Amino acid sequence: MRQAIVVGDEVVVVWDDGHESYYPGAPLRKACSCAGCRGERHLFGRATLPTFAPLRPEAFVPVDLHLVGNYGLQVTWGDGHDHGIYDLVQLRAACPCEACAAARS
Ligand SMILES: [Zn+2]
Ligand SMILES: [Zn+2]
Repeated sequence: MRQAIVVGDEVVVVWDDGHESYYPGAPLRKACSCAGCRGERHLFGRATLPTFAPLRPEAFVPVDLHLVGNYGLQVTWGDGHDHGIYDLVQLRAACPCEACAAARS
């Protein structure tokens, strides 16, 4: 991974090969797999997501990013939650762009 930045309510990752991935905050937060959230293990998977009704809107807005080792991306959310670490391999595999979606299907 070359760079990871927050743009609006999205996490933007620039990969070593120059590919850019834009992850909307809401599904990313819902995929948080930390012990407190136990979100969907597979990013953007089709399985039923847990209910996040108690979360306020800012909970879905990323505010800060930290690279963990060379394998994970830690996201700090608007409500202060920062326990989730997103595996870079999984993140890349879940890139929502049209080209990657087409390649997966
Ligand atoms: Zn979490
Ligand atoms: Zn992509």
